[in-house]
Amino acid sequence: MTCADCLDTLGPFIDGELPPDEAALVKEHLGGCADCAAAHRRLVETSSRVKGALMRYQAPDVLKARIRASLAETAREAPSQRAVAAMARGRVWPRMLAAAAVVAMMCSAATLAVVHQRTPSNSIEQQVLASHIRSLLPGHLTDVASNDQHNVKPWFNGRVNMSPDVPRLDSLGFPLVGGRLDYVDGHNVAAVVYTRRQHVINVFSWASPGPAEQTAAVSSANGYHLIRARHNGLEIWIASDLNESELENFARMVIPRR
Ligand SMILES: [Zn+2]
Repeated sequence: MTCADCLDTLGPFIDGELPPDEAALVKEHLGGCADCAAAHRRLVETSSRVKGALMRYQAPDVLKARIRASLAETAREAPSQRAVAAMARGRVWPRMLAAAAVVAMMCSAATLAVVHQRTPSNSIEQQVLASHIRSLLPGHLTDVASNDQHNVKPWFNGRVNMSPDVPRLDSLGFPLVGGRLDYVDGHNVAAVVYTRRQHVINVFSWASPGPAEQTAAVSSANGYHLIRARHNGLEIWIASDLNESELENFARMVIPRR
């Protein structure tokens, strides 16, 4: 069994839906592959956090249908240039499939559960959270890995229709680790990745016309914190499991005049 096959079957495996012989193959692979075992562990943790959350929302049928449709597109195109070209032709991007797989696992208990402290549920929030969690899977964090903003910022040229801010915050304890193309709410979005100790911080941004919003909204779901703001024609979402006060400090540096 290859790693790709293993990762593809982790959801049904965790839900006990695989035939015994296939489940045995997955189990055998997990026993010998640290990467897949780590992915398995994270999904089990996420799944139990989701199931143990306080409030449950039924996944909208449209979302379920979209996920099924995405998963039905089995074409796997590894080289990023071909993937970008495929995306330009309007085809589903492999990363979208990966994100959909994570959401599908969350939905496989027939519910999507999200706890909100201060803001109501909305699908962008759920998509940002799913993208953040997916980025933590092995090999998914960065498309361009660099601690130099002069490598990361230009990398987004031609990949998204805006230029994300990539401030250098090493000296303030938030080293830059790179950037990634992601997909949220029907947009290609820029994800700029920082860390704080062992915590990953994703800064998602995309062009969004509309008035600036002075105050950023904060919400918390299953141990993750999300901070949202609109600034300079950009919609900006910051996601991390870092504690809320440090994440708010970070947000003040990333989103000026907040
Ligand atoms: Zn593997």
